[in-house]
Formats: sequence, structure tokens, C-alpha cells
Amino acid sequence: MRTRAHGGGMLKHGVARIHTTTRKPHATGATPLGLAATVRSLPPSATLRMNELVAARRGAGNEIIHLGFGQASFPLSPQLRQAIADAASQTAYPPVLGLPALRAAIAEYLGRTRGLAVAADQIAVAPGSKPLIYALVQVLDGDVLLPVPSWVSYGPQVRLAGKRVIPVATDPDDHLGLTPEALGHAIARARHDGADPRILVVNSPSNPTGGMRAPEGVEALALTARAHGLALISDEIYAELAHGWREHVSPARFYPEGTIVTGGLSKAFSAGGWRLGYAAVPGGDAGRRLISAVRALASEIWSGTAVPIQAAAVAAYQPDPELDVYVRRSARLHGHIVARFQAGLAEASVVCARPAGAFYLYPDFARWREQLSERGITTSAALAHHLLDEWGIATLPASEFGEAPKALRLRLATSLLGEPDGLAGTAREEALWDLLARADGLGDGTASEDGARTPGGVLALPALDRAIGRFHDFVATLRD
Ligand code: PMP
Ligand code: GLU
Repeated sequence: MRTRAHGGGMLKHGVARIHTTTRKPHATGATPLGLAATVRSLPPSATLRMNELVAARRGAGNEIIHLGFGQASFPLSPQLRQAIADAASQTAYPPVLGLPALRAAIAEYLGRTRGLAVAADQIAVAPGSKPLIYALVQVLDGDVLLPVPSWVSYGPQVRLAGKRVIPVATDPDDHLGLTPEALGHAIARARHDGADPRILVVNSPSNPTGGMRAPEGVEALALTARAHGLALISDEIYAELAHGWREHVSPARFYPEGTIVTGGLSKAFSAGGWRLGYAAVPGGDAGRRLISAVRALASEIWSGTAVPIQAAAVAAYQPDPELDVYVRRSARLHGHIVARFQAGLAEASVVCARPAGAFYLYPDFARWREQLSERGITTSAALAHHLLDEWGIATLPASEFGEAPKALRLRLATSLLGEPDGLAGTAREEALWDLLARADGLGDGTASEDGARTPGGVLALPALDRAIGRFHDFVATLRD
């Protein structure tokens, strides 16, 4: 590689010569720390920004109902706790794509739980699935089709990789309703505009809606992706958190040669801060070239994933009936909380589609457009601001998920609503273990009058009740 250096002269291998003489910057007004065009207007990710804002406001003494960040936070399972402790002294750099034992465990796990025929050498492990999705977008050829709405980070990642985002319209009543027609239309329009759509990112269960594509929809989507020759990145980070009434099916079952599945420890194992994710790429020569490219990119950026965390992940993915119970109970509890919240919103006439997985709700406030507009609120961003500043409710606006500014939807993350009041440390953990222990007997909160009851009585979820109550109060002001 030959690059032109700032002060003239061709340099080999991109190694810059250090100038010792003082030179004026080239352009008038240029500073030595000028930013690249790709990041000049790049804000921190909406999710993490909101989480930090909430922490700051709470730190300043404000009471905030935090629905702005999706963070599974049940107590760490004893199996993972033991495994990380046992591996704590392993400080050497690991292989770039992950420990062989972990890659094998994940491959076997995907076979066992999702019916996918994947070998260990098709697995890449990284510090989170987020950097892996970025790596995939970066190394795969072509521009990227993103359903609207889609998770907040896909769009910025695509643009950081120097590619174009091609939005794909979905059915507003079923945000996962990505029809072959809508996809075909988006591809044709993109080509007409000079883009080169070759990658599609899908996410089911979905962040932001909690919706989950039905098995027949998954097959149709996979076959459409194949018909268009697309690389299909299937973000399955919430697969384990299906609430139980709809089966999670991976499109890799129907389109194995073109689908890349991603997942990780963050949601099902409540270990987002540990940063461990994986990608399973297709087999064959093309898959081998792809994983080699991911390995090369990873080796130049993050090198590898902390070994103790990988050791814990081996424990997470190997067959273990007790862990299966832990994950199933977490999923049930998230499902119960989301369903109770949805029922509470419905009582206040706030509509949103019923989630089938994960811990999000995506209500629509369009029916109050006029009343909101009278208060100067015409966009989802303004609505989210208003809720935070006037009502102490942190949410994320639909515009962060690729929707038009005027769409008056919000994403509500319900993952922190199981938190017990006023408890910390071991007492908090014990309260959460107690909730998990009662999860198997839970109704979904809507099925019957008793849906939200356990054999031991009503499940006390004060944070959830407060959140519902606060929304009721807010909506009541729109009716005046
Ligand atoms: N995809 C979606 C839809 C998510 O919500 C998240 C959670 N942050 C991720 C990917 C990334 O998860 P992680 O990097 O923690 O594996
Ligand atoms: N997945 C979480 C969310 O969407 C937050 C973590 C992240 O953005 O990395 O709220």
C-alpha cells in the first residue's frame, strides 16, 4: 500500500514520517485534531447515551423511571460465576476468533437449540456481537438493507463502514412484516439510485418492537433473500428470550449458505457488561473467506476476547439442564413484565403490538397527535424529551430506530422493571432469585384475570407498577 503523506513524499506501508519542523496546517482554520468526515457528526449511540444521562440525573437526585436502556440484569448464574473465577488468572492473549473449546461449544449449542448444522470453524467470538455485526458489515461487499424500524446501532455502523443504508418499509401493524414485495421494491429503488444492495440485517425477536417472525414468515424471508442473492445477517441476540407462545426459528434453517447468525451472553445470561458475542458464518469456501476476513479485521482492532469471559461462555453454552431452567425463567419473567406493561398501557388506551420475545414495547401515540402538537410536540424525539423532562420517564424515540421524525412511537425497555425497591447487593440478588423461582407459574398478564398471579399470590413488581401508573398520569393529561 502506498499513501501520500501529509507533508508530501510517498510513504510505504502507511507508516507516517514524523516531522520535526513546525509546519502550518494545509487548510486555513484546520486544526491538528480535526475529525474525519465519517465521525464529525456521529453522536454516541442513543442507548448508551440515554443510560448515562439517566445515571447522571439520578446522581443529581432526580427520580427517573428508566425505560431507555435494554439491559437484562438478573443475577449471574452460579455456573458462570464459578467458571469465570476458575479462569481469572488466565491473562494471555487468546486466539483471535476465540478459544477452540468455546467455538466448539457454540457450534454444538446452535445445533442443539436451533437445529443449525454448524462446525466450530464457522464460529467467530468477539467482545460483544455489536463489534461482530460491524465487522460483518465492513467486510461483506455491498450496501445494507435495514427494515424500518431497526435497532439503533445498525445504521450508524453501516455509515461508519462507508456504506449506504437502504430502508425497507414494514407493515405498521406488524413491524416484522417484511414482505418480498417491500424488499424487492427497496432493492429496485436502491439500484436506481446507484446503490448496491447486497446485505440485509434482520432481528427477531426484535429490538425495538419485541415482535417475533412466525416460522412461515422466516422461511419466506430466507427464500426471498436467497432469490436476491443477499447476505442475510440474522441478529438472534434475543432468541433465548422468546416468551413461550411463539417458536423462534432461524432463517439459517432455510438459507444456510447465505445466512450469518449472531448472538451472545448479553441478554439470555444477563451479562451484557461482560462483552461476549459470536457469529456463525456459512460453511464452504465463501464462508471460509468471510471468517478469514473477520479474523483479519478483528486481529487489527480488538485482538481477541478476554479468556475468563470465554471460559464462562463455555459453561453457558455447554449442555446444562440447570442453566436451561435459568434461561427459561428469565424469558418467562421478561415476558410477564412486558405483558403486564402492555396490559397497563392498553387500559390507558395506548396501543402497541404484542411482543413475543425480548423486553421491549413499541407503543404508538399517534391518536394524540393533535393534543401533543398543541404542546409543541410533533416528533418522537420531542415526545421522548417531554417524558424525560416533565415526567421523569426515560424512553427512546422511534426516530433513533430509523423511523420518520413524525412517527409518534417510543421504544420502552422493560428489562429493569423487575428490580426490587431499595435493595442492593446480596439482598437485591436474593429478591431477584425469588422472582425467577416463581417465573414458571406466571401467566402472561393478559390471558385471564388471574394471568398476573402466581400460585403464591400476585407477583409484587413495584417498579413496573410505578411505570404503568406514571404513563396513566401522562396520558390523562392528553385527554383534558
Ligand atoms: N443487537 C441488538 C438488537 C441488541 O439489542 C443488542 C444489545 N445491545 C446487540 C445486538 C448487541 O449486543 P452485544 O454487543 O452485547 O452482544
Ligand atoms: N441493547 C441495548 C438497547 O438497545 C443496549 C446496549 C447497547 O446498545 O449496546 O437498549
